[in-house]
Amino acid sequence: MKSKESIKKYILQDMRMSHIYQPEMLMTILDCGGKATVEEIAKRLLSRDTSQIDYYGERVKQMVGRVLVKNGIVKKDKDIFELTGFEELTEPDIAEIRADCENALNEFLKTRGDTAFSHRSKSSGYISGSIRYRILTRARFRCELCGISAEDKALEVDHIVPRNKDGSDDESNLQALCYSCNAMKRDTDSTDFRGWNEVYKHREESCIFCNVDRELIAENELAYAFRDKFPVTDKHTLVVPKRHVPDYFDLYQPELNAINRLLAEIRESLMLEDSTITGFNVGTNIGESSGQTVFHCHTHLIPRRDGDTDSPRGGVRGVINDKQSY
Ligand code: AMP
Ligand code: ZN
Repeated sequence: MKSKESIKKYILQDMRMSHIYQPEMLMTILDCGGKATVEEIAKRLLSRDTSQIDYYGERVKQMVGRVLVKNGIVKKDKDIFELTGFEELTEPDIAEIRADCENALNEFLKTRGDTAFSHRSKSSGYISGSIRYRILTRARFRCELCGISAEDKALEVDHIVPRNKDGSDDESNLQALCYSCNAMKRDTDSTDFRGWNEVYKHREESCIFCNVDRELIAENELAYAFRDKFPVTDKHTLVVPKRHVPDYFDLYQPELNAINRLLAEIRESLMLEDSTITGFNVGTNIGESSGQTVFHCHTHLIPRRDGDTDSPRGGVRGVINDKQSY
């Protein structure tokens, strides 16, 4: 049995905290008379998750609060909601109304069951725990739009192209988003920018990279890759967004992610298939003065090999020929 002293020693000296979990769990167990269920502990942890509280705070203000105020059931004064006519209610009245709420809630849960909270996942596609973990690991536990850490805001796995718009469950169509960025996406989806997903489908009829006539060597939801027709070195590859955009700075974050992933994948397979490759240049030209000739954004992945040029020093500095080496 642990004595009070040894528990205190653990808390005061030995406990290594990377999160609030340990003291909160211990307090819950203490508050529950020495034993607590997983659910009791989880609920207490949840009550400390300010990101979740913010989330539901917004729901209260924007949704449920508005409906109840509009119907005259509650009144709102700044941050406080008050039940209309509460002062006239007797104790039994309160118990009766409470029971009515409880019944309504149970009825709803009985018919809707597990889907009662499905509005929280935008496209309600089931994503297994292991895929979820891989997506979050790939994002290094940060929101792929705003960059906030999972420690500060709960991250959700989002379908870049929603499932109800034929987006796939493939990992290239998944990204880690914090609940705020995901909610923003959800809101724009259902209100102002109903067709936001259409922008990703934009193609130009006359563009050679929108209608590429070469074999695709890799592809994901938002980008594809093919070998350059006039290669600088063997296996020189171009990675392009599927959407027609003139240059790199027009790309949206999911496209940057998609391009980056293809670059990494192709580099990996080039290294496996061609042992002569010893380095790479990755680059993109932006604007005519930089040398851009095809105005559909593309990133060059140029394999390099020892001795492929006499003086490689400076690499991409070579855009200004006589300044390459320094
Ligand atoms: P830049 O716009 O200067 O970055 O260069 C465009 C690149 O596209 C060059 O490396 C060309 O060799 C390449 N290219 C031009 N036409 C085609 C094509 N039809 N298929 C594949 N690559 C092409
Ligand atoms: Zn194009």
